[in-house]
This record gives sequence, C-alpha cells and structure tokens, in this order.
Amino acid sequence: MASSHGSQAWFREFFRGLRKDAGVVRCGTIYVDVAGTIDRQVACGDGLCWESSGRAAANSRAIAGKTCCTTFMVPVQRHEISRIKRILPEVRKIRDVGAAIDRAGGFFHEEAGSTWMNDRPNGACVFLSSAPGGPPLCSIHEWAASKGDDHRAWKPENCCLFPLYLVQWGEDTFVTSYGSERWRAIDPAEAEFEKSYACFTPPAGRGHPVLVEQEDELRFRIGARRWNATLRKLRALGHHV
Ligand code: SF4
Repeated sequence: MASSHGSQAWFREFFRGLRKDAGVVRCGTIYVDVAGTIDRQVACGDGLCWESSGRAAANSRAIAGKTCCTTFMVPVQRHEISRIKRILPEVRKIRDVGAAIDRAGGFFHEEAGSTWMNDRPNGACVFLSSAPGGPPLCSIHEWAASKGDDHRAWKPENCCLFPLYLVQWGEDTFVTSYGSERWRAIDPAEAEFEKSYACFTPPAGRGHPVLVEQEDELRFRIGARRWNATLRKLRALGHHV
C-alpha cells in the first residue's frame, strides 16, 4: 500500500527519521523495516485463516478469526475499478460472485473521499468465494489464473501486497508490514485491525519472514535491479532473506 498519510513535510520528516533508525536497513531509495518484515513471520496461502477452527472443517466458508479479505475496508483505485469492469461479466459467473455483487449493489462504493470494495453481509469482500468443501478464493485471482494471466494485471494492488505495507515518497520506498510497530506509528487509527490474524502467528516451521513470503511482489513493485541490490545488502548484514 502506498500510504496517503500526511503532507510533504510529514513525509520528509518520516524518511529523515528512517535514515537514523537502527532498525531500518537502507539500500539507496529502499528502506527495510527489519522487525516488521524479516523478524516477523507470516504464513499466507497455507489456509491458516480458515482451518484453525472446528467450524472451518465442517464449512469451508467459516473463516477463522480475521483475514485480509474479510476484515479490512479494501481500497481500490480508479484505474483498478476500470480494469475489473472489463472482466466483470466473466468473474460474476464464478459460483455466487454475481449474486454477492448484486446484493451489495455493485462491487465498490465511495466513502470518505476514497473508493472501496463492497462486502458481503458477513464482512467478506464480494469477490471472495468458496467452492463446496474448498477454501475461500479471490475470484479475480482465480479468473486470472484460469486464463494464464498474472493476477497482478487484474487484482487491486493492496490485495497483492498484503501483508506488506509500502510507504512511497518520491523515489523513496519504506517496506514494512501491517501490524508492525512502525506501521502502528503511521496508521494509529488502524492499530486494532491486525489483531488475531492466524497467518501472523503460524505454527513452528510453517512461517517465513514477511519479506520472503512476499518477495515476488517486492521484486515486481520495486524492480528487480533495486530489489536484488537490497537483498544483497541484507544478506551481507547477516539477515536470512
Ligand atoms: S479483491 Fe480478491 S484479494 Fe482483494 S479483498 Fe477481494 S477477494 Fe480479497
């Protein structure tokens, strides 16, 4: 997520603080929050958010605790809405997605000056849908995969990045994660949102550093050259990434 917080002066001061922060590794224009993205473990895609309750075993639609697609108000950009509209007739045909969109009065709405994905009555995004006995899936991602497309060509950026959180200012990018200490400082109003995510407290042996789990996204967003240089620096400092 590219934070929209603050003024130019806020960003200037924020990045000035990062340059003096011993917990941040800087490589050119990339600033990595070590505690928030390397020390912090996550297991996304393992189904922890829907398998950790007895209900989930009996009904795959019962999501345990909070998940990225059921908790947040998911922001969506204008250009992302336009491209989703291009594939909407086909995505609507995936299971109950069309019905969920109709019930919600569309797939997005405007609120507080921003545009957001609409939810189902249970709080899940209208595009989150399960096959009988299967896990909840993003139907946009599913549609893209069925066509051999990169999901990033269709899904909102915020969905692709989660649980990473990027703060961008000019050429500078700060890489942290939802729920990290530094994220709380940036977004205090959302500090409660990340509690009780099963993916952030994986059983031993199942988690990876956030930065490793989402490395493809970082390489894609930041660019291979800059990201490879950042990885080399982190490894030279002894970080296992
Ligand atoms: S668009 Fe897909 S990934 Fe994003 S919140 Fe909805 S279901 Fe989840």
